[in-house]
Parts: sequence; structure tokens; C-alpha cells
Amino acid sequence: MLELKKINKSYRTGTFIQHALKDVSIEFRKNEFVAILGASGSGKTTLLNIIGGLDRYDSGDLIINNKSTKKFKNIDWDRYRNNCIGFIFQSYNLIPHISIQDNVEMGMTLSGVNSKTRKKKAIEALKKVGLLEHAHKKPNQLSGGQMQRVAIARALVNDPDIILADEPTGALDTKTSVQIMDLIQEIAKDKLVIMVTHNPDLANQYATRIIEFQDGKKMSDSNPIEKNEKDDSNLRIRKTSMSFTTALKLSFNNIKTKKGRTLLTAFASSIGIIGIGLILSLSNGFKIEVDRFEKDSLSQAPVIISTQSMNMSEEMIESMEGRNDLEKYPTDKKIYIQEDVATQILHTNILSKEYLSYLKKIDTKNLAGISYQTPTGFTIINHSEKGYQLVTNSSFWTLLPTNPNQNENGIIEDNYDILAGEINEEEPGLILQVDSKNQIYASTLATLGLSGTEVSFDDILNQELKVILNDDYYIQYGDHFVPSQDLEKLYQNQNSITLKVQAIIRGKEGKEILTSGSGFAYTNRLTELVIEKNKNSKIVLAQQEKDYNILTNQPFEEGLMSTNTKEMMLGYLGAEVSPSVIYLYPKDFDAKEEITTYLDQYNQGKEEKEMVEYTDMASMISSLSGNIMDAITVVLVAFSSISLVVSSIMIAIITYISVLERTKEIGILRALGARKKDIKRVFNAETFLIGLFSGLLGIIIAYLLTIPTNQIIENLSGLANVAKLNIIHAIILIIINVILTVIGGAIPSKMASKKDPVEALRTE
Ligand code: ADP
Ligand code: MG
Repeated sequence: MLELKKINKSYRTGTFIQHALKDVSIEFRKNEFVAILGASGSGKTTLLNIIGGLDRYDSGDLIINNKSTKKFKNIDWDRYRNNCIGFIFQSYNLIPHISIQDNVEMGMTLSGVNSKTRKKKAIEALKKVGLLEHAHKKPNQLSGGQMQRVAIARALVNDPDIILADEPTGALDTKTSVQIMDLIQEIAKDKLVIMVTHNPDLANQYATRIIEFQDGKKMSDSNPIEKNEKDDSNLRIRKTSMSFTTALKLSFNNIKTKKGRTLLTAFASSIGIIGIGLILSLSNGFKIEVDRFEKDSLSQAPVIISTQSMNMSEEMIESMEGRNDLEKYPTDKKIYIQEDVATQILHTNILSKEYLSYLKKIDTKNLAGISYQTPTGFTIINHSEKGYQLVTNSSFWTLLPTNPNQNENGIIEDNYDILAGEINEEEPGLILQVDSKNQIYASTLATLGLSGTEVSFDDILNQELKVILNDDYYIQYGDHFVPSQDLEKLYQNQNSITLKVQAIIRGKEGKEILTSGSGFAYTNRLTELVIEKNKNSKIVLAQQEKDYNILTNQPFEEGLMSTNTKEMMLGYLGAEVSPSVIYLYPKDFDAKEEITTYLDQYNQGKEEKEMVEYTDMASMISSLSGNIMDAITVVLVAFSSISLVVSSIMIAIITYISVLERTKEIGILRALGARKKDIKRVFNAETFLIGLFSGLLGIIIAYLLTIPTNQIIENLSGLANVAKLNIIHAIILIIINVILTVIGGAIPSKMASKKDPVEALRTE
């Protein structure tokens, strides 16, 4: 079952070649106690390592189960060591940071035996060597003889067919040596035991066969196998594989023995996590605050549909660059024509009959207000002590939104307090909006013909204005239209529309974003009346016939954003034209979603030109503030990430040191049948644990730091509990940290797995 055929092995140190084994041929029986006897340096250990599969022979062959091992791969040697061989070393070679029992179990652990079976077998083996009560001690709590007995238990526990013992009593006193030798002799009853010794007395007393070595050569064999001796017994070889949990356990125990260092390492590498965690929790908290603020104050910001809408997307930035089909810094001597920036950013919306009727069908339950602004111009005259005056700033007025749901509060009731009077949408009228300090501009007051620095509500409510029809205001001379100068006569005209200040309103507290500013709003009834009374207007008819502006005698302009078009002029003169701007005031945030969805549906399947785009004020403001915050967060996180990278380099160094420290352990594990992969796993498990621990530590510290941070922010700004660590962020950070540390430790782990087991065992 085991045979050495002309084995040669030499070591090379520099230019010097040491022949450690020369043409060694030995055949072993299934069951015998062989002593390899020889002086120090005669090649005994080398022989044992080759038999045990720890070291490779240069030439010759090792026959296992009648098969050559010339073609053995690493994995075959690993299996062979794990299943067939039990090693006993002079220096015991126990793993110091795990218990006696775990040491004994290790071989089985490596081959994936379940823990119940492992425990049972380990206890049996420990009982056999008389150390059952020491099972939970660590190796350094035992005497030399006891440690060697643990090593014997470890060698026996997997029930291998071959036990290899290298000077097992070399480090023990005579009395203990006898006990150990008795134990080995006992084992040799049903196994092949090959024991290396330089002590002829021991060999003579215990062995059944003595092979003498000198200078790497076999000198004698007291009981060689005869030609007619037949042995067809086979060694049993099974699979080995170490689970990641085993690797974790090994590493965890090792880490436990270096608590201080691990803690410092973990703390240092957690600093990046702490930084990022704090930044994320702050930006997260600010975002929540801003969102809440916006929801409170912007939920009723209008969706605006205008004849021209602005494109606020990336296209806008792109359009600054000009045409994409041109290369930058060209060398040809040409100039290229660029498209107008305005035509690219601005989208012309055609508010067609079709679109307006689509809009009429919008679900009014989502609306708190709606207003259709037309370009209707008003000629207004006021009357006061100063006489009759033309009101000049009427273009700064706004149309009061109408409430589509009469039984519910509308946009005005939701956002304003009515300080005096009453709003009556059925009548033409003005509503004066004052700011939060009840202020208005002097020009606003002058509209009413009033002046001063303080005016009573009553003075304002008592004022009356007249809206003059254009047919009365403009006098025709041939093709010319000239405004009348007799304001008193116009004011007294029967056709003029009386305009009263119906109410004074003020934005509610907390609604400043929507309601800031002051000025006049007029009821929709005013526009309706003006248009009604202009049905057969002379001046409108005159304008319809001419293709130039009949008031200025100037031609109309073409193109975007022009304020002098026939349509606008007709509207200004009081004809019924399409609205120029439509405001849709949503009931709340969800209602706004439904409104914009409805508006989007109109555009589905339409060409760009026919699309009607809208402006969502609230989302424009929030995306602006959101973008700024995101940018700041990204920059800060990037800075903190540097410390994460630094810490993974640190982990690499520390793992490297750990590999150096655990070289012996690597050798022991390899002798017990661990694959290279398993060794790599042990170190990856270690960095995994450190990464996990430092990640957790970082998150805990970051979380604790949010408490004083919140205190400081509250003292400075009055906002409570701003910094909030998002659980998802926390988990992602821990995962990233683990990945980075494992990457950092990957190279040293690989180095560890490549260590030569024989050399690893020899290190102290
Ligand atoms: P023994 O166990 O009989 O004392 P070894 O098998 O350890 O002898 O060594 C046999 C010879 O090979 C010695 O001369 C030793 O110096 C040499 N040797 C063993 N291992 C190495 C090595 N890794 N590199 C160089 N020389 C070695
Ligand atoms: Mg030796």
C-alpha cells in the first residue's frame, strides 16, 4: 500500500546543493512499527515529509495503493494528508489560540465532518490519551508531555492508516518519554507507524523494524518485505473541504487573542465610515426638513401653462454649447451658424381649441383654483380730489383664480385671510392683497387715486374706478386712432364699467412662498364683461382688417417672445382670443401629481411641435434645492471616502503582519490537509471580521455623534433632530467597508496560501 522507489531529494541554497535523500527505496507493511534511525542531518525528516505528502520528491516515485503519485495534483496530496496521515512532531505544533478539543478536531473540521461527530471522536481520542478533563484548556496551559499527547490524539482522531512521528520524545524528559512511547506502541498495533529518532535504545525497545540512515542513504533494514509477502490492502482517501464558518471560527479565535490591536485597527478604519455616516445622516435629515417645508408651503404652487414654456433640462446647458455636429477648435477657416439659444430653450405651446377643451375636462376635484389669463387690456380712470387720472400700471394686475368647487375652500381661502370686505366673483371688482406687514406700494395706492403713508381699510373699500371701453376711448381720424383726452366725460360715460375694491386680503402665516408681495387682483367677471361689451367693437373690427398695429401704425413682429402680434393686439383691444397663460392650482401634492399626469397624457403620441409643455413651479424649486444638496453631499462623501481607501491599505499591512505571525499555523493546517484555498479563506475571514466589526463600530459611533450634532444644530437654528442616519445607508456603508477590507487583505491572504508547508512548519 505504500512504497518508496529510488526517491531522491536535494535542497539548493545559493550554489550549494545538499542531497538530503539518495535513491531511497522502502516498502511498508499495513501494520508495523518502523523506526528510522540516523544521526542529525541524515535526511530522516525529509523522508518523513515526503512520505506524508508535505514535501515533493525530485525523482523516483512514491507508490500509494499500487499507483504512482507522479501525476498527483495539489488537491490529491491535500486529501492524502488529511485522510491517510497523522503527523506527530517533536515540537507538538498545536494551534495556540484554540482549545485542546478544537485542535484535536481540526483535521475533521477541515474535511467537513459535522460538529456532532467531530465532538464525539475528539472526546474518544482525548480519553485514549488520558486528557479528557483538559479538553477546554488552551495548549499553553499544558505540560510538554500533555501537549504531545494532544498531538497524538489529533493524529489518531481521523483514524488514518499511517502515523508519522518525527522525534516525538525529543523534547521530553525520560519518564514522560516512556509514557508517550507506550502510547505510540499501542497505536502501532493496528496501524503503520513510522517514527524518526536518533536514539537507538528507543528504536530497539519499541520498533518492529529498524531502518538506518546515513547521509541521505538507507544503510540497513532489519525487516524488509520479502518477495512472497503479499499486501493488497488500500489506503482510504476521501474528499476535504473547509467551510467558511470554520474559517470564521478560526479567525475569530485568533482575533480574540489580539483584542487591543484589533480594536485599534477597527477604530482607525472606522473613521471613514463615521465621516460618511455623519454626512449622510445630516444631508438625509436636511432633505427630510426641506421636503416637509416644501410640502407645507409649495403644495399649492400652480402648474403653469403658457404660450411659451422654458425648457429647464440638460438641453438648456447643451444648447449653450451650440451644435453637436461640429468639432471643437476646428482648423478650417469657416464660420458656422448656430441656432438661436432662445428657440432651443423655449418651447412654443399652441393653446388650441382642442387643447382648451381637453383642459376643460380636467377633474376639478384636484383643483383649488384655475385662472385663464387673456391679453385683455383695460383703460381705467380714477377720480379723487386731484381730479380724473388715467391708471397706468394695470398691467401689473393679476387675474384672481376662480374656485371650481363652490362648496369647498379654494386657493384663496386656503392661503389668505380676508381682512375686510367680501369677494364676489360674480361682479367686476378688485381685491387688494397686502403683504405680511399690511404694506402696499405707493403706486398701487395711486391706482385708486389715493396717496399718503397710512390709509384706512374704509378709504380703500370706498374707492371706485371706471373701466372705459376702447370704442369710447379711441377717436378715429381716417386711418388713425387717437386716445380721447376728456377723462371726466369718459368717467361719466354710461358704457363704462364700475370697478370697486371688494376686499382686502393677506397671506396666511406659513404660506409666505405662495403669497408674498402685494398688489391688485381682478375678478374674472371683469374680463368677461369687457369682452361681452366689445362684441361689435369698431376698433376691434378695424384691427381685424389691418395687418399692422392700428394704434402705433407699426408692422407686427414675427417670432418668439414678440409682444407685438395681431393676436395680442386684438386681445388688448377687447376681442375674445385664446388665453396666454393658464394657472392650475392643485389642492395638494397628490392632486398635483394627478393634474400633471392628465396634462402629460395630452402629449402622448404627439409630435414635439404639437406638445403643450407646462411648468411645475414646486418641482422646479425642490429639484433646485435638492440638486445643490446632492452636490454638496457627493463632494463631502468623496473626501471621506479617501479615509476608507487609506484604511483598506492599513488592513492590507495588518493582514500581512498577521500572515507572518501565523506562518506556523499555516504549516500545521497544511499538514492536517488544508488546501491552499482553505488558508486563503482563513485570512479572508479575518479581514471580513475586521471589516464587519469596524463597519459596525463606525456606524455606532456615527449614530452616537448625531446626538450632539443635533443638539448643536438645534441651538443654532431651532430645528430639532435634523441628523438622521438612514438604516439603508448604514447597511450599505458596512457592506462597502467589508468589501474594501477584504480587498485590502486579499494579497496577503494569497501570499499565505502560497507558503510552502515544510518551511512554514520550520518557522518559530
Ligand atoms: P534530519 O531530520 O535527519 O536531522 P533533515 O532531513 O532535516 O535531517 O535534513 C537532511 C539534510 O538536508 C540536512 O543536511 C539539512 O541541512 C538539509 N536540509 C533539510 N531541509 C532543507 C532546506 N529546506 N533547505 C536546505 N537544506 C535543507
Ligand atoms: Mg529531523
